[in-house]
Amino acid sequence: MSSPHMGGTEENFVKEAFTTNWIAPLGPNVNGFENDLELFLGRGSHVAALSSGTAGLHLGLVLLGVRAGDEVICQSMTFSATANPISYIGAVPVFVDSEVDTWNMSPVLLEEAIKDRISKGKKPKAIVPVHLYGMPAKMPEINEVARKYGIPVLEDAAEALGSSIHGQRCGTLADISVLSFNGNKIITTSGGGALVSANESVVKDARFLATQARDEAPHYQHSRIGYNYRMSNLCAGVGRGQMQVLADRIAKRREIYGKYHTLLSGRKGIAFCNEPAGYFSNRWLSTILIDPALAGVSREDLRLALEKENIESRPLWKPMHMQPVFDGSPFFGDGTSERLFANGLCLPSGSNMTDEEMARVFEVINSVIK
Ligand SMILES: *Cc1c(COP(=O)(O)O)cnc(C)c1O
Repeated sequence: MSSPHMGGTEENFVKEAFTTNWIAPLGPNVNGFENDLELFLGRGSHVAALSSGTAGLHLGLVLLGVRAGDEVICQSMTFSATANPISYIGAVPVFVDSEVDTWNMSPVLLEEAIKDRISKGKKPKAIVPVHLYGMPAKMPEINEVARKYGIPVLEDAAEALGSSIHGQRCGTLADISVLSFNGNKIITTSGGGALVSANESVVKDARFLATQARDEAPHYQHSRIGYNYRMSNLCAGVGRGQMQVLADRIAKRREIYGKYHTLLSGRKGIAFCNEPAGYFSNRWLSTILIDPALAGVSREDLRLALEKENIESRPLWKPMHMQPVFDGSPFFGDGTSERLFANGLCLPSGSNMTDEEMARVFEVINSVIK
């Protein structure tokens, strides 16, 4: 559905690490990769390269001062990695439903949730929106609500490197932002992530905590709990090569989305997630909604037909408020994410798909959806 796609120069950076014996965490590739990301994101961004996006979300919550027993507002419609770090800390996730335009956190339900929690004496400590499948969440509205109540925002931009709102890139739209370079993302370091902030001291603190929180001393001295969350110099070498082809990858993913859109728009019961005015999606994954009452077939009919041809597709993320592990967590919703989960499908979207492979996918789709 979305496999790693090397550009060709990654091996040179990794080879250089071997030649110079920088086979350690940290090293010139880590600095180089952080610089590349800072230039790409713009807006005075500072970047700490980490071992994963999940690690970035965990550190982000720690840096925002979230502690055991606190409540954190989290988008329900997402991958579990968004919510799990809240539990690592012993804090409680409060899930908020999506709106229909971007499929991400509803600013209206967000405010409803905040008012309810405050009325119960539990003002949330942070808000975690997500840009699903590359589509930016309604960050201007979410940030406005957050400012109104004085709650910091931690942006999960794991799926949205290269996406933007009015030219401002995802990864720069909150107090702290997190990126992922897992193998299935738009670019990969084989495994990795980053924490981003315009506040340099926050990013310095992130680097400090990510390297076991060692105080300045010749011996090992610690006054805080640390983590082993830094990116290795080898992985960062892959990342530097991938940054050279990021623009191509975004263009290709958008082209694939455009082909699905051309093929299917106008067919009864099929809907897409369109870009609101000023919004730009990297189209990490191409997704569709199938209304079985109108289309005459269901999401599962198409998924199973593809599977029979050995083509991977997947239902959209199952919302966190429906997950057994988060049973009992507060939830503020209106049924939107449940409908998206029931009818949504992620289609093959890898930037390394060949025209022949696309034609095979189209053939199956055409045989199922009339
Ligand atoms: C991939 C992903 C993560 C986690 O990133 P890792 O680098 O795999 O830890 C977090 N949130 C979302 C929305 C993701 O898609």
